[in-house]
Amino acid sequence: MPEHNALDPIFNPQSIAVIGASRQMGAIGNIVVQNLIDGGYQGALYPINPSATEICGRSAYASVSAVPGPIDLAVFCVPEKLVLALARQCAQVRVKGYVVITSGFSEVGNHAAETELCAIARAGGGRVIGPNIVGILMNPAKANASFAPCLPYPGRTALVSQSGALLVALDLATHLRKFGTSSMVSLGNMADLDFADCINYFARDEHTACITLYIEGVKDGRRFIEAGRRCKKPIIAIKAGISEHGAKAAASHTGSLAGSVKIYDAAFKQAHVIRAATIDELLDCSQALSLQPPMRGGQNIVVITNGGGIGVLSADAAEQYGIPLQAAPAELQAQFRTQMPEFGSAKNPVDVTGGAGAAGYEGALEFALRSPWVHAVAVLYCETAVTKPMAIAEAIVSGTAKAGGAHAKPVVACFVGGEECQKAQRRLLEVGVPLFTEPAKAMAALAALRTVARFEEQEPDEAFVPFCEVDEAAARRIIAAAREAGRSVLTEPEAKAVFASYGLPVTRGLVATSAEQAVEYAVRLGYPVVMKIVSPDILHKSDAGGVKVHLRDEAGVRAAYQAIVDNSRAYKPDADIHGVLIQVMAPVGREVIVGSVNDPQFGPTIMFGLGGIFVEVLKDVTFRVAPFSAACARAMLPEIKSYKILQGARGEKRRDLEKLTEVTSRMSQLVSDLGDEIAETDANPIMLYEEGKGLKIVDARIILKPHATGAPQPSAH
Ligand code: ADP
Ligand code: MG
Repeated sequence: MPEHNALDPIFNPQSIAVIGASRQMGAIGNIVVQNLIDGGYQGALYPINPSATEICGRSAYASVSAVPGPIDLAVFCVPEKLVLALARQCAQVRVKGYVVITSGFSEVGNHAAETELCAIARAGGGRVIGPNIVGILMNPAKANASFAPCLPYPGRTALVSQSGALLVALDLATHLRKFGTSSMVSLGNMADLDFADCINYFARDEHTACITLYIEGVKDGRRFIEAGRRCKKPIIAIKAGISEHGAKAAASHTGSLAGSVKIYDAAFKQAHVIRAATIDELLDCSQALSLQPPMRGGQNIVVITNGGGIGVLSADAAEQYGIPLQAAPAELQAQFRTQMPEFGSAKNPVDVTGGAGAAGYEGALEFALRSPWVHAVAVLYCETAVTKPMAIAEAIVSGTAKAGGAHAKPVVACFVGGEECQKAQRRLLEVGVPLFTEPAKAMAALAALRTVARFEEQEPDEAFVPFCEVDEAAARRIIAAAREAGRSVLTEPEAKAVFASYGLPVTRGLVATSAEQAVEYAVRLGYPVVMKIVSPDILHKSDAGGVKVHLRDEAGVRAAYQAIVDNSRAYKPDADIHGVLIQVMAPVGREVIVGSVNDPQFGPTIMFGLGGIFVEVLKDVTFRVAPFSAACARAMLPEIKSYKILQGARGEKRRDLEKLTEVTSRMSQLVSDLGDEIAETDANPIMLYEEGKGLKIVDARIILKPHATGAPQPSAH
């Protein structure tokens, strides 16, 4: 049975039992019963209390087994010590949903009871929301199964929050902001149902057009990404906890740069989740996303205004949000000119001036919506003594109506003014046009609508198809041998062999254990060569004086051999030295880095950036959760500030970005296939050559997870 059906008894319950219903005013068990009554819940309501016959005017029952009919949802308002015993009774009568308001579980370290609670519910065919929550509030079912004071302002956004206090605050704010909400869900400890489950449910809920999330942390990152990608409705989220509390100690470059915020950023993109920076932005954009169609086909926005000032502010904001305004084509400008006095401006922003009145707005809006050049319209208005906000609102209503409903272009409005504007807001919401009080907010909303359309456009390219000519078994043999030797670090030759088994282009090399052999290998590989120390105890070889490049003859190789061994011994006297690597010297290219970490939430995640100061000083890097397609890797490149260097700026040649994206995608497959074994990797540097000339990985590092896992776990794809 699809998941959304399975959760219907929770989000559209036919019957609700309140476990721990109370006659005592102010008790949670009293508030919840009263809230369900006040909200107008029409299903069967069963207050459960062993010593009461009536609560809030409804018949009470001693236990769930005394209830005359089936129970879809049980709302727990009892102290923690009673929850498990009462959950067992619920399981016996096969309650479907357990909304556990009660706190005192994993948030205070009581993990055992939380696990037990889920086991009891699942065994009885039920699912748990919470514990440690405010409850859930559903407008379609008129079910306020929470201790929040009222059902939210009705509309089409499902709001899911990990924070209970914020949920209550936002519930109240929805009325002030006229923020239309289908459901509000408090997730709390997420012992069972989490964000992914809510996305899966609301993706199919006919009352919901947009899903809005307040996230502190997701439980299963991959499930979250998959749920987001599958969902065809816009999802917007705010992530709390993005400041870095001190850099982690990590063995690889990638490890030291992979803060959770960057990985969340990547995961949101891959999950097709829009990220909001503030609560205001979250709610403003949600409103637009729930009311208006995505900005499809392009990003030509027309701004219609009566004031030059807010017009310019909107143009500034549009640029900041990456959707800069363009001058309208000549024919469209000519049409606009018919709607304004001589001194108006038909370019973009289209300034109909105070002189044009509501009729000017209506006409300009209709022309804009009818023009195939236009992808979205923002109607800006400064309240003046001459024209009234309501008249402009009506002009927007009639202008859109005249353009015909089939244009499917987003329209947003921004009115700056007094109380009359609030009335206009209500009128506009009736026809689904969100009204903002600040031009930048209107532009943020359009940017969000544009992002949704971009996600739709990217969809087909993003599907990951594994490369078939890879030898996972060979890679695992190399890893197993290192484990056998009691190591969790692979040496460069081992790491390169793992990379090579995935078809990654690495420099050839041979490990010599004497100066004699070093010379022999140098001859075999061909001068010039590079020589490096091979020791699992020396991770950063240059730091130990363990790297010599550009060796062109026998004398050089002999001297380098001795120097590398001496330097390394001096650097770390007890280092286990396997020998000295003699390696083909790769031509100089633009140095880039591709690495990975194994994130606790999202699993293997790839980092990309330019080498040297770009990564070390500027930390100019970007991430994607593995595995991903070459098209997805291609989208990473412009995200770094130094991208222009790769494109060929300032005398630099354009680099082989085609090959780079293939290699990055291959790396993502490697770290994902071997995600049960590998903690971190670095291919640093990779010499990236001019277009058509490929690249070479000249240094490789692989750090294994601390403990061998024995049998390989199933890989992510
Ligand atoms: P580590 O990072 O452990 O100090 P590397 O293997 O990265 O050691 O070597 C240090 C530098 O030497 C690299 O950043 C690169 O510039 C250069 N180098 C290393 N190997 C080669 C090679 N095979 N061909 C060309 N240059 C190399
Ligand atoms: Mg290196």
